[in-house]
Amino acid sequence: MISISHHGATSGVTGSCHELTLGQGAQKSGILIDCGLFQGQDEGRGASASDLSIDFPIEHIRALVVTHVHIDHVGRIPYLLAAGFEGPIICSEPSAIMLPEILEDALKIGFTRNRQLIERVLGLIRSRLVPVPYGKWHSVFAEGDCSLSVRLQRAGHILGSAYVECDARVGDSEERIVFSGDLGAPHAPLLPSPKSPERADRLVIESTYGDKDHEDRETRRYRLKAVLEHALEDGGTVLVPAFSIGRTQELLYEIEGLIHEFGGELWGNLEIIVDSPLAAEFTRIYRDLKPYWDAEATDLVRQGRHPLSFEQLTVINSHEDHLNAVDYLARSHRPCVVLAGSGMCAGGRVVNYLKAMLGDKRNDVLFVGYQAAGTPGRDILTYGPRGGWVELDDERYDIRARIHQVGGYSAHAGQSDLAAFVSGIPVSPREIRIVHGDQDAKQALKRCFQSLAGIDIIIPSE
Ligand SMILES: [Zn+2]
Repeated sequence: MISISHHGATSGVTGSCHELTLGQGAQKSGILIDCGLFQGQDEGRGASASDLSIDFPIEHIRALVVTHVHIDHVGRIPYLLAAGFEGPIICSEPSAIMLPEILEDALKIGFTRNRQLIERVLGLIRSRLVPVPYGKWHSVFAEGDCSLSVRLQRAGHILGSAYVECDARVGDSEERIVFSGDLGAPHAPLLPSPKSPERADRLVIESTYGDKDHEDRETRRYRLKAVLEHALEDGGTVLVPAFSIGRTQELLYEIEGLIHEFGGELWGNLEIIVDSPLAAEFTRIYRDLKPYWDAEATDLVRQGRHPLSFEQLTVINSHEDHLNAVDYLARSHRPCVVLAGSGMCAGGRVVNYLKAMLGDKRNDVLFVGYQAAGTPGRDILTYGPRGGWVELDDERYDIRARIHQVGGYSAHAGQSDLAAFVSGIPVSPREIRIVHGDQDAKQALKRCFQSLAGIDIIIPSE
C-alpha cells in the first residue's frame, strides 16, 4: 500500500504540499514533499492564520523533503512545526543555507515581529535541517517490511532546487515515485538544466507553464537588449518587479553579459539598482555557491568576469535609501534599471516605485516572471498596454509607462520542456499527477501527455 495525496497546490490558499504514505492504519508512515504558502489570487481572501494551520494528520509523517525554497513550497513550515512535526527537514545543500533566510523574512511578514520568537523558530528549523548532496540516496526510514529512501536531482529552477526520487517498499511491492517540484527551463542562465529521471513508476509534476512555451535564450536575450535600449533612449527608468531568488540573479547575469558585449555610451553608463535586501542577500549566496553554477557561468568566472557583482551594480538596503532612490529617480529621469520586489507587485518596495513612475511615459515596466491572477502585476500587464489603471494600496494609478514582458526569465519550464522531461524517462510512468498551475495550464499539459500511450493522467482536486 503506497499512496500519494495532496494537501495543497490543487486549489485554495495553500501552496505545494504532497504526501507519500506507506502502509495503512496504525502501521502507516509517510513523508511530506514541500509545505508551501500560496501567493496570488487567493492570498488576500481569508488567508488567516487559522486557514494556514496544518489541517491534516501528521503523527505518521517521518520527514519533510523540500524541493526548493520558494515561499509557495516552504512558507508553511513554521505552521508544520507549530502543529508538532518532529521529523527532519531534508533538502539540498544550497537549500539548507537559503531556507532559514527565506523563512526569517516570511516570519516577519506573516507570523510575528517578536525577534525572540523568530530566533526560536529559526533555531528549531536549523536544528532539523538535513542537507543531502545531489545524486546520493538517503534512507528516511527502514523498519520491518517498510522502507523509504529519497534522492535529490538538480531541477534547474533556482539555486538548490531539486526533484525528488522516492524508492518506497512495502512488503513485496516496491515503487519509484518522482515529485518534480518546479522544473527550470533548459538553457537558463547560471544553472545546469534538469535531466529526466532514469525511472519513475509514478510522477507528480507541477504545471505552472503547462500551457505555454518560452522564447529560447537567444531570442529572449535579444528582446531584453532591445527593450532596455529602447527604454533607456528617452532617459527613463526601467522598473523590473523581480522575485528575490532566481530571476533577479538570472537577470543580473544576462545584463552583465550585455554590458560586457556591447559596452559603449549606453551600456557603459547604465546603472543597475537592486532595491531589495532579500534579493541582495540571495545574490550574495548565489555568488558564494559557484560550485553549483553551470559550465558557461563557471567559464566566465575563469575569464575574470564577475557576473553577479559587476561595477555598475548598486544595492540598496535601508528603507531610507530606498525612499531617496524612488524620489531621486522619479525626478531625475536618469537611465537606470531597478530590480525591486515583490515580483507580482503585491507588496514590497516595487509598489513605491510603481506609484511614483507609472504615470510618466518615459518610464518602462518590464515583467520577467509569472503574474498570478488577481495580483497588481497581472493587472498592469493586462490593462497597462490599453492605457488603463491599476489599484495600489486602495488608490487608482493611471498607467502611462510602457509595459513589456520578456518570457522565459521565469525560472519555470515551458510546456515542451515538461513534455521532454517526461518523454526522456526510458519507461513511461504508469501514472502522472498534474498539480500546481492554473486550470488551463493543467488541462493543456494533460492533453500534451495524452499522446504518450498507456499513462493514467490525473488532475487531483482537494
Ligand atoms: Zn519555484
